[in-house]
Amino acid sequence: MEDINVATNLHRVWRRIGEAEQLANRHSGSVSLLAVSKTKPDRYIRAAWEAGQRAFGENYAQEAEEKARRLDDLTIEWHFIGPIQSNKTRGLAETMAWVHSIDRLKIARRLSDQRPQHLPPLNLCLQVKLSDEPSKSGIAPSEIPALAAQITELPNLSLRGLMAIPAATSDYQQQRMAFKQLQTQLFELQKQHPEVDTLSMGMSGDLEAAVVEGSTLVRVGTDIFGAR
Ligand SMILES: *Cc1c(COP(=O)(O)O)cnc(C)c1O
Repeated sequence: MEDINVATNLHRVWRRIGEAEQLANRHSGSVSLLAVSKTKPDRYIRAAWEAGQRAFGENYAQEAEEKARRLDDLTIEWHFIGPIQSNKTRGLAETMAWVHSIDRLKIARRLSDQRPQHLPPLNLCLQVKLSDEPSKSGIAPSEIPALAAQITELPNLSLRGLMAIPAATSDYQQQRMAFKQLQTQLFELQKQHPEVDTLSMGMSGDLEAAVVEGSTLVRVGTDIFGAR
């Protein structure tokens, strides 16, 4: 694997986020960066950590758990953003601070049951499938209220917001329309659950549009760690 300059890339992404915040008249620091390190070696994560990055995202359960255990000398906030099989929940409950890809109650219930008592509640986002999305994962917007109500009854979890992965497009207006749909869903959810505060949306190719539409957390892989 060709080595890349993770620190330089990271500074470039932080600058993009800062410029997008300014353009959107949002407070500096209101959008946080999740560095998506899936398939990338530990030394890339260490390089990003040394440059100041603390939140990392993974989307294969076993890889996520193994990296979290191997890199436990670093103060990392681990986020899981991939599809979840029910036999993989225990390792995630033990190692992650956040799971963004909740699309059924069964998984949330297992994570709640398996969350170790000495850890703070596991932060969750519901993954929503937007209208034009080819993805198999995610719930329809109409399913959000019922799932949210059931999850907030469970102990050891904290419902934090919504996540989506809109269809990739280079058309800025189309990007904004998709992200606006998710923001509308967050506003609806906040009527019943005012504590919910997270809009997990925006990746390497569309983070600017996501920030304009209210993203609070962008998930960036390629532009930090290189192509996969
Ligand atoms: C891989 C991945 C990302 C990062 O995508 P890039 O285009 O590489 O920035 C973000 N979110 C999810 C859910 C992913 O699987």
